[in-house]
Amino acid sequence: MSGSQARLQAIANVTNYEPTEGLLNFTENPTSELFGSNVFSMTQMEQRLPKEVFASLQKTIQKGERLDSSIADIVANVMKDWAIEKGATHYAHVFYPLTGSTAEKHDSFLVPDGQGSAILEFSGENLIQGEPDGSSFPSGGIRATFEARGYTTWDVTSPAHILENPNGTTLCIPTAFVSWTGESLDKKTPLLRSMQAINLQAQRVLALFGHSKEDDFIAPTAGAEQEYFLVDRNFYFMRSDLLTAGRTLFGAKPPKGQEFDDHYFGAIPERVLACMLETERELFKLGVPVKTRHNEVAPGQYEIAPVFEAANIATDHQQLTTHVLRQVAAKYGMACLTHEKPFAELNGSGKHLNWSLGSKKHKNLLNPGKTPHDNKQFLVFCTAVIRAVHKYAGLLRASIASAGNDLRLGGHEAPPAIISIFLGDQLTDIFEQIKNSGEATSSRPTGFLDTGANVLPNLPRHSGDRNRTSPFAFTGNRFEFRAVGSNQTIAGPLVVMNTIVAESLDFMATKLEEAQADSVDFETAVTKLLKEVITDHEAVIFNGDGYTQEWIDEAQRRGLPNFPKAIDALPEITKPESIALFEKYEVLSKRELHSRQEVYLEQYCMSVQVERALTIEMAKTQIFPAAIRYQNELAQTCANLKMIGYEFDTNTLDRITHYVKELQDSIATLEQIDIKGEPSLEQAKHACQTVVPANLAVRKWADLLEGEVADDLWPLPTYQEMLFIR
Ligand code: ADP
Ligand code: MG
Repeated sequence: MSGSQARLQAIANVTNYEPTEGLLNFTENPTSELFGSNVFSMTQMEQRLPKEVFASLQKTIQKGERLDSSIADIVANVMKDWAIEKGATHYAHVFYPLTGSTAEKHDSFLVPDGQGSAILEFSGENLIQGEPDGSSFPSGGIRATFEARGYTTWDVTSPAHILENPNGTTLCIPTAFVSWTGESLDKKTPLLRSMQAINLQAQRVLALFGHSKEDDFIAPTAGAEQEYFLVDRNFYFMRSDLLTAGRTLFGAKPPKGQEFDDHYFGAIPERVLACMLETERELFKLGVPVKTRHNEVAPGQYEIAPVFEAANIATDHQQLTTHVLRQVAAKYGMACLTHEKPFAELNGSGKHLNWSLGSKKHKNLLNPGKTPHDNKQFLVFCTAVIRAVHKYAGLLRASIASAGNDLRLGGHEAPPAIISIFLGDQLTDIFEQIKNSGEATSSRPTGFLDTGANVLPNLPRHSGDRNRTSPFAFTGNRFEFRAVGSNQTIAGPLVVMNTIVAESLDFMATKLEEAQADSVDFETAVTKLLKEVITDHEAVIFNGDGYTQEWIDEAQRRGLPNFPKAIDALPEITKPESIALFEKYEVLSKRELHSRQEVYLEQYCMSVQVERALTIEMAKTQIFPAAIRYQNELAQTCANLKMIGYEFDTNTLDRITHYVKELQDSIATLEQIDIKGEPSLEQAKHACQTVVPANLAVRKWADLLEGEVADDLWPLPTYQEMLFIR
């Protein structure tokens, strides 16, 4: 079967899709029986562990206190029994290397007893420590190959869980991944360190507001809205670009794209909904509180969002969410694409990262209440965030820098690469009052939405309403970082958020403590501080349309950094100010920062390099052959017609001949541009500025050919097929 025949067959297979019957069983009560049923939860621990052991664990989990390793044996034993009841034969240390993916090392519980049989064993040591051969994970020079061991170490704050497979189940233990020197090789360790840092500083501010220093842990909270595409697997397997790079490197714009906005929040197609339902059920079992689902703007694009959780758990759950999405999609004959830009000319995918701070006792510290102007505590926390985002905009931008996000940011569908804050009318007005008269005396009512129809209720308006063009928006009781890429772990952006806000809270607490020492009235000190900070940092606030050229110019006048591409932002990581910041709060050392920067540059170069190789291969072996076959067909027709005295209009033939020539030339050019040598900023710049445009040059001619070549000769599933056939 030729490539093009296979393509037509694929279309037939998709249209023949039959819903799978009887797959889902919803008789279980989703709350009590389903939710968390595969999680070694606090409830399980409380029921199964001796009282003192549970109390000790609880201190670590809920209050961030140091883990007492002497209890590990007892916990391990109980955990093993629970897992075996759930059918587990193996356990896995799950960790999060710098690639941003999830890694697992599996071991069997089975240990031969030397007498020809075996026993099931899982010791405290097995639980606490693993030694995966880490030599294949990027470390950015922290670990030479001869000392390649990396250690995984149990993160008790994130619950162990059971991962099901038709052939057995595995006990998964979330772990941190470090080198033998204790340096972080992963995304989790700095996240936990940053949570420690922000708790410490938030406690200082709260103490100033008269709260007793309770052993209540102030945790950053996170809720990540994940966008993704679903395409039929028949098409997916026919496109090596989707399979290997996660996005299409070729493909002409379909006659109808997303212009009509008819997909956004539209009715969810049956197969997709079936897939979502099963995904959600699996996630419920794992204790992931997924809440909302809907169609997104582009055809074939969807979103899933959870209820927020403490940042470390939200991060692990987010990784699980994409994992389960991919797995379940395959069961329904689909592939889940989480790349930031799977299809050119259509919206890409992001991951809106909602962030706040809170605790059991204090609830949400970014909740403004009904009259924010007299909620000084809220204003201090909110101002701390504004200051942090302004002061460290470059670092925030660097935390979302990747080859994939380069294709999306600033593209009139996603936030611009300039980091600014949308505050909304009410807060903007309050900060204006503070700036102009030193004191805010009123809160603009947020009011009600009148629908005009008497039968409909009036809706309360959110204080921070919607401005989709802002990369960082206050949305009522939290900040939403919208520039995060759909394919990245939220750990990186969270580490930056937590650390920069910790620094701001430290700054504010210090000022207020100094005022207190000088016996300045507290209210006066707060008002003075708010005025100072907002005056210094209001430049970052922007409520207008972030997609316009005027904003880019205005931002430049305001001195806000604009890093259009990853290569512009990544150097921020190792600037002296950044190193000083991360070292001060003990989140990342200078060596760790340098290693991270190196890894990200390497990842960047490798992505571009893979796309280069794919572009060459697909253009040469799929597109060029199809084009010359058609060219030949036209030439034959022309010759034949001439022989019998007819005229043949050679317009099409001329065009194709021209495109084919350009295609060949652009491939030849691309073949001569390679990415060589050790990863460095220079190399990444070369990738971004020379290789990426050369890839695009090949694509240009290929896409033009797609519009000319006979459909039955075209080897690649088209955008129209992949996005509209469900
Ligand atoms: P929208 O599309 O309006 O942004 P969604 O319901 O899609 O709303 O997503 C809102 C996200 O914000 C959810 O994941 C939710 O859990 C999260 N969120 C809400 N409150 C907080 C909070 N205090 N801290 C962190 N995330 C929050
Ligand atoms: Mg949303």
